[in-house]
Amino acid sequence: MSYFSISNVSKSYDEIPALQPFSLEMNQGDFLAIVGESGSGKSTLLKIMAGLEVQDSGEVFLGGKPILNPNQKIVSGYDEIRLIHQNFHLYPNSTVEENISRQLLHYEKEYAKSRVAQLLKLLGLNDFKDRFPRQLSGGQKQKVAIGKAMAVEPDILLLDEPFSSLDTIQTHRLISELKEIFKEFGTTVIFVTHDLDDALRLTDNLIILQKGKVAQKGTSRQLCEKPNTKYVAQLFSPINKLPDTKNSYIRPADVKLRTKGGLLAHVTDSRFLVHYNSLQIQLKESGITWEVDDPQRKYEIGDRVYLSWDGPKVMTL
Ligand code: ADP
Ligand code: MG
Repeated sequence: MSYFSISNVSKSYDEIPALQPFSLEMNQGDFLAIVGESGSGKSTLLKIMAGLEVQDSGEVFLGGKPILNPNQKIVSGYDEIRLIHQNFHLYPNSTVEENISRQLLHYEKEYAKSRVAQLLKLLGLNDFKDRFPRQLSGGQKQKVAIGKAMAVEPDILLLDEPFSSLDTIQTHRLISELKEIFKEFGTTVIFVTHDLDDALRLTDNLIILQKGKVAQKGTSRQLCEKPNTKYVAQLFSPINKLPDTKNSYIRPADVKLRTKGGLLAHVTDSRFLVHYNSLQIQLKESGITWEVDDPQRKYEIGDRVYLSWDGPKVMTL
């Protein structure tokens, strides 16, 4: 049996299914991201995993022991499984250091002191340890919340959209710091997000959740190159339908642009993006509109362009 095991867990609210039977096996130190749009059942799933929500069916096991839900256990939740929400839950009148050390009141003093010092150092919070939450940036507050959760050395850390109140630059910085910290502690981490890009930066191991059901699971590369459905394909980029086919698609980055030879189109719009110009083009024969990438920034509105692509890049969805 694996270390953390979720077997056929499901949940409805007022007879509306929020989570269809969901199963998962994880080994110690694994790192998984679950990606789904708002309302896809991510928070429901994490709460059940943490023993904080009563499921309709199924079971959760950690190290072979059942995780009891609030109907089965007087004090809900477990020190071994910590759930971190997007809105931090810090003690406003305690300093950074106190916020973390309050988790360890029942621990031996020397141990608590060294654990807090270790977390402050790893999280880069030493310079801020005497500040109150209101004196911190969003990224710093999030790190304190993670420090609080990590204080009790949880086996499993569940992160529920932890970056949604941070800007992109803060998020990217925090993600690379956290990856190192989780590795150092050997924590098993499940991260849920609506943002595929954040998930890809954190891990290679993904589950896509759609309306309470697993749409697909696999590595980033498998999901991007071999999506099972249009829904999964479109999380990675827009897709262009090949003319005269029923269900064949190509990604904007996989279309080659040339000045002669291939399928003829005209450029109808062009946007300057960081790594390429994104062109809107209209195919001559079919009149279909496509989106394609122009990494050389060569084509302008009104230009003729000829298109080709490699067969293996075509996705059948
Ligand atoms: P996500 O975290 O992916 O946004 P949730 O797990 O919060 O999704 O919600 C999944 C579905 O269940 C949504 O349709 C939501 O409205 C519904 N839901 C969540 N919590 C409750 C609740 N306490 N009562 C009724 N419906 C709920
Ligand atoms: Mg949620």
